[in-house]
Amino acid sequence: MNERIARRISGSPVAAGESEHGGGDGVRVTRMHQSLLSSSKMGSTNRGLVIQALYDLGPTSRAELARLAGVNKTTISGIVQTLIDAEILVENDPSPIGRRGGKPAKPLWFSPSASPICGVLLMPEEVHACVVTLDGQIFAETRIALPDGGGPVEPIIETIAECVSGALQQTKRPPLGIGVAVGGMVDTDSGSIVTINLAPALDGYPLASDLGRRFGLPVRLDHHPRALLVGDRWFGKGRGIPQFAVVYTGKVLGGALYFGGHLYRGTAGAGGELGHTFVQVDGELCRCGRRGCWDTIATLGWLRREARKAGLPDAERMNSGILCLAAGKDEAAARLLDRYARNVAIGIANLQQTLAPNHYILHGDVVLGGDRMLEAIAGHVRDLVPARPGGVIEIVAGDAGDQAALLGAAGLVLSDMLQFSI
Ligand SMILES: [Zn+2]
Repeated sequence: MNERIARRISGSPVAAGESEHGGGDGVRVTRMHQSLLSSSKMGSTNRGLVIQALYDLGPTSRAELARLAGVNKTTISGIVQTLIDAEILVENDPSPIGRRGGKPAKPLWFSPSASPICGVLLMPEEVHACVVTLDGQIFAETRIALPDGGGPVEPIIETIAECVSGALQQTKRPPLGIGVAVGGMVDTDSGSIVTINLAPALDGYPLASDLGRRFGLPVRLDHHPRALLVGDRWFGKGRGIPQFAVVYTGKVLGGALYFGGHLYRGTAGAGGELGHTFVQVDGELCRCGRRGCWDTIATLGWLRREARKAGLPDAERMNSGILCLAAGKDEAAARLLDRYARNVAIGIANLQQTLAPNHYILHGDVVLGGDRMLEAIAGHVRDLVPARPGGVIEIVAGDAGDQAALLGAAGLVLSDMLQFSI
């Protein structure tokens, strides 16, 4: 990780026509894929990299940042001073622990008075907004049920705007922007919703430009699992990990991938529809109209149906938490737990065989099942994927609630700040 930070701060920004994974090598470059960076953009890129390093490392002194980046302290100070002047970072008092003589190092960290970011989670039945500080504290949460998603679009949009407004009214400083995690397909280029199952009224709606007009702020939209990944990357269990995957389970299934320091997005934000990858040719009919999708065997709909068939109590509200409790005293519940864990593991094993991210952060329903569910899933993944050197698979629990998605929605705005001027 430190090497990665060092390479990226000290090295030249990615040059035209080459990638971080190695340009040259006899590959003929016929055109420039990326514009050369202007000096002002290089400045903002370096500032972004310093912020990224702080998220990875926690509070860190200028001297330590310079050492890790392999540059001199003057270079780091030049970058850092702009961030201090912009009230994004502050230099805190030196820690008395670990002083080894000389001038004590003052750790840099995010200023409590820095402008926050508005994070929004838009699901088919509810909108949840909050304000997030740059060091990942959530406050001013507002949550409102949405009108019928099959009805007209105006009342839904008014409700979303009311929820965002409710959160923004509780912050003194104007936020840097609004990030929205959408429980459906989005066009990240245009900031529009492509489609949300259960809320077809929103299909095709240009939400980013609408909210941008209302609140006078930049607005970023992305797919819910990608927001979870950004939340993990900036503020959670993905900090400092060079590659990992996020898998969300619950009423629906989705995922996102982080490779080589980048969140992967298909064209215009496509991809991540893991729930609709196929696990059984001609299997059960899926809500998407196709057959045999992973969604048909590893979501709450399947679990509740099978719980009913097995005659388990609480079948209608069954989830991984209830199932794991029941499995301690009921053989049928224990068998269902194992089948459900295997069904979840099948999709993860496919992802591992395709891209081998090795680290998986699970979110949503399965997290409610605690260690028992996680160990059952991990056991099946290891059975399904052949062992190989360097292929240790780690599966950890993220968040069962909305926190990671809200942080990630805010992180979408932060990611933009890292690429463009602050
Ligand atoms: Zn499907």
